[in-house]
Amino acid sequence: MVYRKSFIFIFIAMTLLFSSACSLKTEASLENQIPTFEEVKEITPEVKLKVPVSLSLRKFPHPFESILAVANDIDGTAYQDFIEIHRFLNTTQHTTMGYGLGLDISDSFWMYNVNNKKGYIDANNTLSWQEQISYFKGGDWNTPYFSKEIKHFINAGWIDSIHSFGDFSRNNYKDIQFKREHAVKAVEELEKEDIKIKVWINHGNAANVQNFGGRYKSTEYQQGDVPNTAGYHTDLTIPYGIEFLWDSKGDNKIGHNSMIFPVTLKDGQKIWGFKRYTHKIKDDKYLWQWDIYNLHNQLSKEHLDKIVDQNWYSIIANHMGNSIDDRTLPYSAIEAFTRLKKYQDEGKILVARTSRLLEYNRCHQFIEYEAFQADTDIDIYIKGINDPQRGFFVPIIDQIRGITFYTGTADNVKIYINTTEIPQEEIQINYKDGVPISAGITWHKPDSTDYSQNIFSE
Ligand SMILES: [Zn+2]
Repeated sequence: MVYRKSFIFIFIAMTLLFSSACSLKTEASLENQIPTFEEVKEITPEVKLKVPVSLSLRKFPHPFESILAVANDIDGTAYQDFIEIHRFLNTTQHTTMGYGLGLDISDSFWMYNVNNKKGYIDANNTLSWQEQISYFKGGDWNTPYFSKEIKHFINAGWIDSIHSFGDFSRNNYKDIQFKREHAVKAVEELEKEDIKIKVWINHGNAANVQNFGGRYKSTEYQQGDVPNTAGYHTDLTIPYGIEFLWDSKGDNKIGHNSMIFPVTLKDGQKIWGFKRYTHKIKDDKYLWQWDIYNLHNQLSKEHLDKIVDQNWYSIIANHMGNSIDDRTLPYSAIEAFTRLKKYQDEGKILVARTSRLLEYNRCHQFIEYEAFQADTDIDIYIKGINDPQRGFFVPIIDQIRGITFYTGTADNVKIYINTTEIPQEEIQINYKDGVPISAGITWHKPDSTDYSQNIFSE
């Protein structure tokens, strides 16, 4: 008899839970037999029935009020400059610019470098344009150049974007050197080495026909997504994994509610474009451009306060490694990065590498979830990311790190991806501090390892 009674309770509880949680249409005859939540609680007070509850998302991971990325173009960068700049930005070691800041700032890379510009990439006039960092030497996919180093720094997180397949800029922009085979060999190499890059940043003058996705006519230089042209490659590049594109159009606004916008390529494939802050215009005149000597204008106090006040995303574009002296950024840039670090320390701006900012932006915008509550227990089920450009997908945890829900309770919050519970050590509870209690998935762990040490001893 006791068993039978328990069975009935369980049956009732399950029915109620199932019908409310899944919002299934119930037959009218069954409906009358389903007890109310209060009725069941009266019979079995120990049974906690979870009912659907509507939770809203915090815009950024707690406690931050904005996220900023520095998306650097590798133009004119010598290997030693790359190392020292990232030791200063990413580690906390002693560098030529003082102690490092430990920020999550990543960079871009090239597979090829066929620029024929004369002159030097460093202010000391020792390294030519042909000595910029690239994976292969020149345009030759059979000759590795900085391939090991680039692979190493991609794995380390100091590089996360491809600055197009290479520097194909020529003094005569009609002297086109890029061939589809460059793309074929580059993608083959990236796949062979299991290098996963999802951010593409267009580069250079009109000789760079590998560029794509811009708002240009197909007869103009961006041929990368135009079938039946010599520069066509997006039939390989998008399936390889590129999902976010900077389409060559600079932006003169410091931040936005969302950095991404839909792009349909000329071959019909759909990806995301993203904006980068490049320059300032006043009265139709460029006041300054995106070089390291103007980084302090990009990261001015006024701009940083603005993105905090507005709860904006921001992506700064620059050319940090171009024309610098003795592996050292100008003082104005050191000061600007130090200011940025202070905003992060104060919990105002989270500094994130470009790929992480974009992934967070996409997932935050298109996440689908439902939540159930009983007393102070909350279960949150993340069903997936309903990405209108790339299609629905179930994320891995690294794609949704930082996603935070206003739960109103901190007692027992469980978050699931589909039906798999995220371990409690990956859940961050944020107690009341002027905003309601929230709970979310922890952000990526800070990493200030000096990856320039012992590169080849792995
Ligand atoms: Zn460039």
